[in-house]
Amino acid sequence: MQENYPMLSVEKALEQILILFAPLPTEQVPVLDALDRVLAADIVADMDIPPLANTAMDGYAVRVADTAGATPEQPRRLHVIDYLAAGYVRSEAIAPGTAVRIMTGAPVPPGTEAVIPFENVQVEGDEILVFKPIALYKNVRAAGEDVQAGQTVLKAGTYLRAQEIGMLAALGHARVTVHRRPRVAVLSTGDEIIDVDDPWQPGKIRDANGYTIASLVRHYGGEPVRLGVAGDTIAELTAKLRLGLDAGVDMLVTSGGVSMGDFDVVKKVLATEGEMHFWRVRMKPGKPLAFGQIQGVPLLGLPGNPVSSMNSFLLFGRAALQKMQGLSPTMLPTRPAILVDPIRRKDNRRHFMRVWLEEKEDVTYAHLTGDQGSGILLSMVQAQGLAVIPEEYDHTPPHFPVQVLLFD
Ligand code: AMP
Ligand code: MG
Repeated sequence: MQENYPMLSVEKALEQILILFAPLPTEQVPVLDALDRVLAADIVADMDIPPLANTAMDGYAVRVADTAGATPEQPRRLHVIDYLAAGYVRSEAIAPGTAVRIMTGAPVPPGTEAVIPFENVQVEGDEILVFKPIALYKNVRAAGEDVQAGQTVLKAGTYLRAQEIGMLAALGHARVTVHRRPRVAVLSTGDEIIDVDDPWQPGKIRDANGYTIASLVRHYGGEPVRLGVAGDTIAELTAKLRLGLDAGVDMLVTSGGVSMGDFDVVKKVLATEGEMHFWRVRMKPGKPLAFGQIQGVPLLGLPGNPVSSMNSFLLFGRAALQKMQGLSPTMLPTRPAILVDPIRRKDNRRHFMRVWLEEKEDVTYAHLTGDQGSGILLSMVQAQGLAVIPEEYDHTPPHFPVQVLLFD
């Protein structure tokens, strides 16, 4: 079967995967539930923020002309005629020679053009002494200085962080239109795999991938639909995948059963129940990666080794989740670093080495997290990222400059 499927570069594989995904339909959610989701419509302000000019200081709102010529020797004397706390307005203008005691956030009364902080005046009964002229609009925040009515404040496709949620609330959006979260079926395969709470028996190992992948799905904004474990038979695998399809998932993700072993049935099921688009990627770990569709639903067939499956999901599954949520798909964020340990290898694949990072005098040093075997999950547990060794190097010397993909 493998002859018909050339080994793809990471870029080519990603491209072929992403073609099959599109932003999911939208839904309305309460504003707080929109956190970490993707806005599906532009947000145009329907009012100014702040809505009214208001004071930035606790002090006295004054007419600027009343302070002209004031000096320490010849202070101006103003009559305090009103008191305004934040949350209240005075709609009446103030007369020349008067001032209003006012608290931060309160709209400045008509006719006043500046606010003198408490500490700059001397209070005498119901009068204040002003010792120097105040500039026009000093300590006054203009209406619309943050956001102006009619302004497009947030664009469709924006990832909503705390500050965007605050802005949406400030603009009066109790409900927000976002893309639906991708629902992703997660299935582990292998006669040897048992679930976390099954009693251990000789020959068996506990399912790590089902939990790693479900965690990544959730971490990147999806809803995992756990299908558990399927044994290495076509019947069992097909039955489990049907459960996922019946649940209406947007993507199926399996692990295991995609290499050259006698019982690697994922590729067979993919080819008979649907279609397989490609099968191998020029990378390590994670060369065997089957991708195709069953009943129109994309299936990402990850390799079984725990490091490989996580690596492949980080490169490909993550981008698919981003696209379904209305984001532009990206690679993991990168940081340049110096790979301290030398590397030797003989394939022409792109290698992703698990590294921990050390900062020394403004340089980031990357150290291998021990044994880099694709079954060594601890190498991921101890890692902060993946150092990328490009295809063309058969060895790298100590202190080789690399890009590190950071777990985000
Ligand atoms: P496979 O790709 O099915 O040949 O599996 C490759 C290796 O990964 C084998 O040693 C499997 O036992 C192991 N493996 C497969 N699936 C899992 C899983 N869900 N959790 C932990 N190890 C697994
Ligand atoms: Mg297997």
